[in-house]
Amino acid sequence: MEKTILEVEDLVTTFKTAGGEVSAVRGISFSLKKGETLCIVGESGCGKSITALSIMGLLAANAKSRGNVHFNGKNLLELKQDEMRKIRGNDISMIFQEPMTALNPTFTIGFQLCEPLLIHRNLSKKAARQKGIDLLKQVGIPMPEKRMKQYPHELSGGMRQRVMIAIALACSPKLLIADEPTTALDVTIQAQILDLLNDLKEEFETSVIMITHDMGVVAEVADRVIVMYAGEVIEEGSVEELFNDPQHPYTRGLLASVPNVDDPEFKLNPIPGTLPNLNEEIRGCRFHPRCPFAMEKCVQASPVQTNRKQNHSVRCWLQEAEADEYSKCQPSSAV
Ligand code: SF4
Repeated sequence: MEKTILEVEDLVTTFKTAGGEVSAVRGISFSLKKGETLCIVGESGCGKSITALSIMGLLAANAKSRGNVHFNGKNLLELKQDEMRKIRGNDISMIFQEPMTALNPTFTIGFQLCEPLLIHRNLSKKAARQKGIDLLKQVGIPMPEKRMKQYPHELSGGMRQRVMIAIALACSPKLLIADEPTTALDVTIQAQILDLLNDLKEEFETSVIMITHDMGVVAEVADRVIVMYAGEVIEEGSVEELFNDPQHPYTRGLLASVPNVDDPEFKLNPIPGTLPNLNEEIRGCRFHPRCPFAMEKCVQASPVQTNRKQNHSVRCWLQEAEADEYSKCQPSSAV
């Protein structure tokens, strides 16, 4: 692995609402190295996409971020809009969850593909069109000349997602953020898109942040994983550590709730309860109302991040002095 290209420090993102200020991201920190794929996992509403939008500077007008997001020697949170526009789509690109809504239905694929090349690369229209055709070929779209003239609704879901990837890669970004890029696709197209992303990552040497709630996707693409819960990072580690030695009860719950189609006896083991509302202030560990291991201490104080190994940290009181007692810990009823 090479040098760190992104350093997120104590990122907090809040929204002003009619009911007061709510925090969607609560002081998270992580870094990303060149060529690395970092997966951010967690349930819908845990703050994954807001983290990505905070990095991209694409938050709604009622939202505000603080902390530091260092990229290429600049703190992105301190940049003005026009400075950020020079980075977005050029050095940092994003693939959104649903290509039908992310692509503009009133412009052709060619127009939307050439736009970043004309703005950021200063290419002539002819050169941008040729590059657009090449990109469509690269992401496996047949008859690219014809597709350039078509509108998003004329393409299948898989093709639209490939177009989104082509647009995101148009300027060879250093960082690609993919927000659930395969959620809206069927499994065969999903596998093709993940292979494509892996191949393109190798070719362009791009670092990738992949946001997903699908542990199968994580196993396939991740080098490192961070698990988020209710706006906080609760576990971080290499993909091997996370799958072979998960420590946080929530991470264990996520892995236990992955269906096993090979085992006819397998029963789904879902995590009871739901995520807390963003405006709900919870004392202590934010997972404690759902945690089968909750102790008195968990209700009294928020756990600190503990480093288990160089590449594995966990935010759970079980990791402290009781760590070696963990395996003996009996589930109690949730507090
Ligand atoms: Fe469960 Fe306590 Fe750990 Fe939170 S700190 S995950 S409540 S054991």
